[in-house]
This record gives sequence, C-alpha cells and structure tokens, in this order.
Amino acid sequence: MRLSDDRKEEIEYIAGSILQDVFNSEIKVPIDLVRILQANELKLTMGDFGGNTSIAGAFQRSEKTIAIASNMPYQRSVFTIAHELGHFFLHRDYNYEIFYRRDADLIDIDKLNPIETEANHFAACLLMPREPLNYYWRLINNVDGMANYFRVSKSAMYWRTKNLKLETVK
Ligand SMILES: [Zn+2]
Repeated sequence: MRLSDDRKEEIEYIAGSILQDVFNSEIKVPIDLVRILQANELKLTMGDFGGNTSIAGAFQRSEKTIAIASNMPYQRSVFTIAHELGHFFLHRDYNYEIFYRRDADLIDIDKLNPIETEANHFAACLLMPREPLNYYWRLINNVDGMANYFRVSKSAMYWRTKNLKLETVK
C-alpha cells in the first residue's frame, strides 16, 4: 500500500523529532542508531531465526528487543534496525513482528502491509534526514556517493532522493 502524502509527512516529522531529541540538534551522518537504541532503552540482539534465512529482523515490544539476522551486510543491518525502530515508534498496538525481508527494495510496494511500508519510510527518514540530505546532495550530487556518505544501500538512497525529488545537476 502506498502512503498518503500526509502520513509520509507525519512519519518524517516523527523521525525528525526523535533525531532532535537524541542528538540535541547536532545531527551527524551516518546516523548513530546505537544512541537511539540507548536513549529508548532498547536492546539489540543478533539471531539466526531458527535458520530461516528469509527473516531479516524482528521486534518484540514486551522485551524492548530488536533482533536482526547476523549474516547481513552493514547497510542492510542498519536499515533493518531503523525499520524495527519504526514499529517501536509508530505501531504501539503491535507487540511482536517478524520482518521478512528478502529484499525490501524489490518487494512490490502495493502488496506490502501498510505498517511495513510505514516502517520502511520511517527508516529512510531516520537514516537520511531531509536537512543533511539536501545539504550533502548539493555537494555530492550523485546517488552512489551519497549512499557511501550516509552508509546506506544505493537503492535506499535512490528511492529517498527520488521521493524528495532531488535532481542531479549535469
Ligand atoms: Zn516490519
């Protein structure tokens, strides 16, 4: 399901407020998710989910624990943690969730559960906040360079810059 522009803005605002709270207006990229976890007393564990390799991460609210698969590249681990943080902040009615993530960027967005779309949008807003993104885009001005600088995957950066309609200056 696609999110309405209003809901997207709301999620962007929530992610921005969390960054302001944790980093006291000194938001540096790449975003240090450990500080966000600590500020909210969330635990992070690595798991193999009983050998099920299609599971990237899970969030258990009662335990305040985010679990992520241990075999993922850095960029994917970070996006998965940020996604699970999205459930923590946005979806208080859901106690437990397992995030099946073969490759979230390739999943047909129209078939995705809305809370998954919301958590993905939250993750993008958290890891690629609008202000530093606009600032560094003027300097770097290409997706690959930006992905390296923000330490996110190229596809995550591609979709974020596309959503924000940032354009490449030729
Ligand atoms: Zn999820």
